[in-house]
Amino acid sequence: MSELQVVCSEQCIRSAVERLACEIRSDYQDKNPLLIGVLKGVFVFMADLVRSLNMPLEVEFVRLSSYGYGRTESSGDVKVIHGLESGIEGRHVLVVEDIVDEGRTLDHLLRYLNEQKPASLKVCALFNKPSRRQVPVNIDYLGLTIPNVFVVGCGLDYDEKFRYFPDLRCLDD
Ligand code: 5GP
Ligand code: MG
Repeated sequence: MSELQVVCSEQCIRSAVERLACEIRSDYQDKNPLLIGVLKGVFVFMADLVRSLNMPLEVEFVRLSSYGYGRTESSGDVKVIHGLESGIEGRHVLVVEDIVDEGRTLDHLLRYLNEQKPASLKVCALFNKPSRRQVPVNIDYLGLTIPNVFVVGCGLDYDEKFRYFPDLRCLDD
């Protein structure tokens, strides 16, 4: 499987993470932000981002699902499988996503979080596929825009495989 075509190199991803960390650090100084990551795919990006940020913050994770195993298309029916363990009222919340595709997952999550009255609610996503959007969502901090291909690596999987690639690769059907 090493022949999968590279869409973003490790170096390109590292630069994007550092740029995002600079922007977020200057906006959230003294705010002790709560970063909420969307599992599972975000675990690699979250770890890199938090170390790049190197500032006081807290981390939480939620898990949402809309994909069946072995699929590359969303079912469109998003569910919160694992919600928050503590309240976010009055907190400066930054949602951290690996990739925004149709926008349904993020839209669903933002509604769920907004109900809990955070002081602010923004979004940071490492990858964006705008050509696939079905639901409009605003990304406040965007890493890289990629073409309309199904990608793996950097935490992203296909049927739980390929999360370990340090770069982003295109999965040929
Ligand atoms: P959306 O609801 O925006 O269509 O889907 C977002 C979620 O679908 C992402 O958080 C990710 O889990 C998954 N996803 C979307 N596009 C891709 C892709 O190209 N590759 C992989 N591995 N997952 C994707
Ligand atoms: Mg995700």
